[in-house]
Amino acid sequence: MRIDLHAHSTASDGTLTPAELVAAAAAARLDVVAITDHDTTAGWAAATAALPAGLTLVPGAELSCRWYAVDPPIPLHLLAYLFDPTSAELVAALAQVRQAREHRAERMVELLRADGIDVTYAEVRGYAAGGTVGRPHVAQALIRRGLAGTVAEAFAPQLLGERYRLPKEDLDVFTAVRLVRDAGGVAVFAHPRATRRGRVVPDELIAQLAAAGLFGLEADHSDHTPQERAHVRGLAAELGLVATGSSDFHGANKTVQLGADTTDPQVYEQIAAAATGYAVQRSVPGTLS
Ligand code: AMP
Ligand code: FE
Ligand code: FE
Ligand code: ZN
Repeated sequence: MRIDLHAHSTASDGTLTPAELVAAAAAARLDVVAITDHDTTAGWAAATAALPAGLTLVPGAELSCRWYAVDPPIPLHLLAYLFDPTSAELVAALAQVRQAREHRAERMVELLRADGIDVTYAEVRGYAAGGTVGRPHVAQALIRRGLAGTVAEAFAPQLLGERYRLPKEDLDVFTAVRLVRDAGGVAVFAHPRATRRGRVVPDELIAQLAAAGLFGLEADHSDHTPQERAHVRGLAAELGLVATGSSDFHGANKTVQLGADTTDPQVYEQIAAAATGYAVQRSVPGTLS
């Protein structure tokens, strides 16, 4: 069983549509793939409808969170699986974060324009199509201007990595864990040691989150060194959490491939068994696939 529990589509900052994503997952010989777009469930229906025979879909999302107890607060990502996508409180929280992302993108465009870089918000919004807007869409505008060759280059410190990076209003991470659990979902801390994305939170916070109902830690991720993977696994064992592995696939916006890191089948079974908000999806026999 090959299980990849973290992938993005055009519903956020991936480059494959949800239907293309599940087709690519089957082509990558995955048995299970999770669709985890940033702050949205918009890709679930299309991914489910396009499921190839033999592939199981874990509907999910990656929530933009922040630990507000420190100054300045530290941003972090929470993977949420198999929650009820109609849970009113969670739906409202996701909408709020998406709106905060739009405001931030507008302000980033203003900063760029103030420095004489002629990008527009309409253009950036257009790269996100109808999906959750993020810095990779601003990156597309910079690439069009010849200011970066690739998305990764656009994340250099003098561009979106630091200079034009603005904070957005994220969900309080403890609130987010509660919302996911109240919606019957399972929460896993995404790439908790990804230091090259910025500051990471101390293990003490992870212990507090475990006490608050966090289910797992993403240990195997391309942004973690072998030492960081081992540390996260050890911490998970210590705190009674599961340890997952996943690609965080973003299509052409990143170089990582589907299935680059995978999750142990037993861990996947534990996640699926713990969730009560939504079922894993399989293709319906008799439909075209
Ligand atoms: P945002 O959520 O708008 O702050 O943008 C963060 C997103 O940008 C992440 O989810 C990744 O998809 C992407 N990203 C972050 N760092 C890099 C990088 N160095 N190269 C390519 N994409 C990146
Ligand atoms: Fe992303
Ligand atoms: Fe992430
Ligand atoms: Zn991700």
